[in-house]
Amino acid sequence: MMTPEEFSKKYQSEYEKGLIYPICPNCRKKLHLYGISSLTQKARFDHLNQSSNCELSDPKKAKDFPSYDFNNDEIIKEYLIQENQRKVYVLCKKLLGNTKFEYCKFYELIEIANKRNIFYYKGLKVWMILYILLTLQDFKNEKKDYMIRFVIKDLLVKTLNGESLKNEIQKIEKHRTGTKTRYIEMTEDFFKSTDDSWIKFILNSERYLRKN
Ligand SMILES: [Zn+2]
Repeated sequence: MMTPEEFSKKYQSEYEKGLIYPICPNCRKKLHLYGISSLTQKARFDHLNQSSNCELSDPKKAKDFPSYDFNNDEIIKEYLIQENQRKVYVLCKKLLGNTKFEYCKFYELIEIANKRNIFYYKGLKVWMILYILLTLQDFKNEKKDYMIRFVIKDLLVKTLNGESLKNEIQKIEKHRTGTKTRYIEMTEDFFKSTDDSWIKFILNSERYLRKN
């Protein structure tokens, strides 16, 4: 990612004319340049609206947010290996406990992940992708009588950096009668040992992974 100084050096005049603007890698909203000519303030990119609901718009949350490595296409190549795509799909389905996890729903998650540049998180491993996908939205169970939400227990950045002693994801089910929570361990072994041979289709995530 470009620093504010680099951006200003390269694009200042276009930026002033409103021809070009920086975009947040997480929420894809326009950013503006703050404090670039100030001697006392460190220059930064700001969201136009502080309440833009993006972790990166809040400096306190932003410091616990993963960093990006936009030169790393390796993880996308690895993910696109058919066996890996299938395993990610199978495990999302399994953790949802939802026999009807449709492929279009799966691709929707890949599309959101792509928009939010999740595949460029520094330290991302292919086995972690499924857990991040599950946190991208809430799910309805098959009979639509309760909601399911996943939350990575520790900071995601700790998982990415291999700093967590135990990587766990929380599965929260919101029933009418109350909330059920359980913890599921996130491990590479779980990913590797998954049987995906029963899938009869070729999965094609590639078209959702265009560089944006
Ligand atoms: Zn943002």
